Amino acid sequence: MRILLVEDDRSIASSVVEGLESSGFSVTHVATGAGALAAAEHDMVLLDLGLPDMDGRDVCRELRARTKAPIIMLTARSEEFDRVLGLELGADDYVTKPFSFRELVARIRAVARRTTTEPGAPAEDPAAPQSIAGLKIDRRTRRVFIDDQEVHLTAKEFDLLAFLAGDIGAVRTRTEILENVWDAHWYGPTKTVDAHVASLRKKLGGHEWIQAVRGVGFRLEPPE
Ligand code: CA
Repeated sequence: MRILLVEDDRSIASSVVEGLESSGFSVTHVATGAGALAAAEHDMVLLDLGLPDMDGRDVCRELRARTKAPIIMLTARSEEFDRVLGLELGADDYVTKPFSFRELVARIRAVARRTTTEPGAPAEDPAAPQSIAGLKIDRRTRRVFIDDQEVHLTAKEFDLLAFLAGDIGAVRTRTEILENVWDAHWYGPTKTVDAHVASLRKKLGGHEWIQAVRGVGFRLEPPE
């Protein structure tokens, strides 16, 4: 496994490089955010949050946009790294300094197991049906299933579901929904959205899938 280590602290970097190499990893070390963004593709990135030239969060976001390689953030306790924010930026995990080498390797292996696709598995097909818990959305055929039972939706209900499912857990405002599902120039009542959400919920078998966020909009999330 080729690991990119982004760390400006020389003593941490040299001990991590030495340890990882003796454990059989191949390591490239860079000390800046710019270096990280210029580096070739790796299988995993260990990214220090506090870098001299860029905020590690920005580096994380940039890297996530360019590579599928898992990212483990290395954070100092004083940096109050917000785990949720980190995951939103695209980090797969984080390790708080000071960490033991064993802990770091355990995290690397755990993240690798979680994110690696089986060798020989077919590449991800963007047209493949999307599965979220028991819900399956096939955009190509515009069919929806819950636990393999087909759910018959109207065209707008399908578009609404597909739009919400485009970003699981993200809150979409009524205006965003209207613009994307109906028409960019819709000036009608936003109650239309609520009516469709209500009928969609009914067909999905409950309120749990589509949650209302008071005063904001709706989000799709698998029931607990
Ligand atoms: Ca640092």
